[in-house]
Amino acid sequence: MEKELVIIGAGIAGLYAAYYAGLRKIDAVVLESSLEIGGQLQALYPEKPIYDVPGFKKISAKDLVSNLYEQYELYKNEINILLNEQVQSIEQNDQGFLVTTNKQTIQTKTVLIANGGGAFSPKKLEVGKEHYDNVHYSYPESIHLKEKEIIVLGGGDAAVDFALLAHEHAKNVSIIHRRDVFRAHQGNVDELRSKVNILTPYTVLDVVDDGNNVKKIILEHQKSKEQLTLDVDIMGVFYGMNNSKNNYTTFLIETDNDGIVVKTNMETSIPGIYAAGNCTSYEGKLKTIAVALGEVATAIGAINDRLNPNQNNHVYSSLLIKE
Ligand SMILES: Cc1cc2nc3c(=O)[nH]c(=O)nc-3n(C[C@H](O)[C@H](O)[C@H](O)COP(=O)(O)OP(=O)(O)OC[C@H]3O[C@@H](n4cnc5c(N)ncnc54)[C@H](O)[C@@H]3O)c2cc1C
Repeated sequence: MEKELVIIGAGIAGLYAAYYAGLRKIDAVVLESSLEIGGQLQALYPEKPIYDVPGFKKISAKDLVSNLYEQYELYKNEINILLNEQVQSIEQNDQGFLVTTNKQTIQTKTVLIANGGGAFSPKKLEVGKEHYDNVHYSYPESIHLKEKEIIVLGGGDAAVDFALLAHEHAKNVSIIHRRDVFRAHQGNVDELRSKVNILTPYTVLDVVDDGNNVKKIILEHQKSKEQLTLDVDIMGVFYGMNNSKNNYTTFLIETDNDGIVVKTNMETSIPGIYAAGNCTSYEGKLKTIAVALGEVATAIGAINDRLNPNQNNHVYSSLLIKE
């Protein structure tokens, strides 16, 4: 694959960069290491309200992510967001840069690093095999839940949210948590009590499988040590995320203790490689959403100037888009 721009990360910075690259007609692709977009907002605090995004008195993290995605969709035919693509190295060559992921190598003229606080991956079930077809770490499509026995593991927002969603379609839903108290939005926890079979404080002792699928789950009560075996059709595991910190040394870019050192136009120490969002570092830097989005606009402007030095690259969107 050959591109003018590779954007690393589909957190809010990467998502907005995808939109802005589309607006500026830059041939770009977004590479995201996890299985979902939204970065920290989606992985760490989807239900939390945010109060300091310009133009919104209050907006939940997941709604902000879906709004950014909706805005990007204007250019989704031109700019792809590829999930499960972890960037492993960037090498400089005569045509620009060679970006290597866990799946492919992409030749590009420029790079925008928007990899924030590092790559997120779900914490796995600690018993049985590494992979089962019926064990999910993100929401499976509703169609697969119809008339099924659903087991949900976890006590946070993602687990509670999924249990409520599954209840709309499934035969039975049981949620299993090792504590009596859930760490989720109280309104959703209250709703859970009337709709879902709640088993607390239980831990998972073992699973019984047929090779490809988990058929039964064996639980142990934390206090009485009583054991319980439940049938499983579909299991959702929401134990939270592991975060592997960024290793910038592989990219040979100047960094300090807070991240990638950038100039005022968001260019890094390597001409042609830019950075925006939580990963950047400069005096006075604030690691917030508003700042990240501003940095993206600056970075895409500078990238466009580099790719198209002889054109007027700074036309306002209000003058550019004709409906
Ligand atoms: C609990 C909490 C509450 C917060 N509340 C607020 C608030 O109220 N207001 C506010 O302004 N800010 C808040 N923040 C900060 C805000 O979430 C961050 O500023 C924002 O998420 C930065 O976005 P980003 O896109 O730069 O990085 P991230 O959200 O970290 O996204 C980076 C993306 O890059 C991907 N990635 C990483 N490495 C690779 C790789 N090698 N290859 C491919 N992809 C990769 C990651 O998987 C991730 O999806 C909060 C943060 C937390 C943790």
